[in-house]
Amino acid sequence: MHQTGSSRIILKTMQFTDISGQAWQVECMGCAIADSTVTPPAGGIIAANDSCYLHQDPEAPLEGFLVIGTNRHVESIMDLRRDEYDDLPSLCRYGRQLMDLTPEIRSVTLIQEERSSHFHLWLFPWYGWMMAARAARVIYETSQRPHRFTVSEENGSGIPSSR
Ligand SMILES: [Zn+2]
Repeated sequence: MHQTGSSRIILKTMQFTDISGQAWQVECMGCAIADSTVTPPAGGIIAANDSCYLHQDPEAPLEGFLVIGTNRHVESIMDLRRDEYDDLPSLCRYGRQLMDLTPEIRSVTLIQEERSSHFHLWLFPWYGWMMAARAARVIYETSQRPHRFTVSEENGSGIPSSR
């Protein structure tokens, strides 16, 4: 059972296996990490402040894929108290600075996932190999796309016409 301010939530027990192969059974992964029931793989809690903690994503085998979770069980950034909200950017910036220590990480996407019941912010790394694979897929998809438009030869206007 989790306390979220004035309401109480009963969660079903979930099972998951982290990227190190460790199996866990918890009601909420975010709460379990916050209360040290679960130790995130690849270094545990990297950094923390009064409201939030930073760690490697436990389920995605992607080095440097960092997650910021909240100590309190809240679903959305909209549910954070002011003090919790104020604690978030400093940890986010610290995590992003850590990612800069890995030169293979070319850029980072921040995502706040609300489909989970426990707030977390993803710091998703984009590696060069991902960008190359993405570019190759776009070229492949473009070459496979049916040619649907042609320039009209009749009027020579250069305006595409549908066939
Ligand atoms: Zn939780």
